[in-house]
Amino acid sequence: MRIIIMGPPGAGKGTQAKHLAQHHGIPAISTGDIFRANVSLATPLGLEAKRYLDAGEYVPDEITNNMVRDRIGEPDAAGGFLLDGYPRTLAQVEELDGMIEPTGHELDAVISLVVDEDEVVTRLLQRARIEGRADDTEDIIRRRQEIYLEQTSPLIGAYRERGLIVEVDGLGEVDEVTKRILSACDSSADAIC
Ligand code: ADP
Repeated sequence: MRIIIMGPPGAGKGTQAKHLAQHHGIPAISTGDIFRANVSLATPLGLEAKRYLDAGEYVPDEITNNMVRDRIGEPDAAGGFLLDGYPRTLAQVEELDGMIEPTGHELDAVISLVVDEDEVVTRLLQRARIEGRADDTEDIIRRRQEIYLEQTSPLIGAYRERGLIVEVDGLGEVDEVTKRILSACDSSADAIC
């Protein structure tokens, strides 16, 4: 099973990704988490990525693509994976297709979490107080929303044409949203998740 979870910053992708991955027994691969882990370990990748993360900008595709290629090539991802935070650009969509195709598998579904913009900004400001993530300041949150709208939201149309989109309302308690995702997956005609 090869699934993507998408949604604007603050939609709750990471939380839902962990639940769903556990449900399906596949790894949840979060590009944001991998970048942050590298930043805190000050690896060469982390040193390179840090300035983009701090500014709320996307890390250049070449760096991100190679990182994902390596990660999904690891043994625990051989039976499937759930991607959180990738792809985020149309170029990354193509790149991901090129990674999956040679394995003889296909993407099964793209879960799109739908959340109102004011709600996500409120959530992120709240997370800033709890977790202290460096990119959760109001200016950078707005910048991340802007970049999402510009560069990532077009991916939903592209995946919709392929019959892969499973749209889910991301508002509400975590468990409630998880249940909604599972039932949307069950009733989806084309996508399998
Ligand atoms: P959020 O969705 O809340 O912005 P993430 O943890 O998914 O948070 O991503 C944090 C940051 O990591 C992004 O703002 C960006 O700098 C970087 N990043 C994550 N995934 C990608 C990607 N696919 N392409 C480029 N940059 C990425």
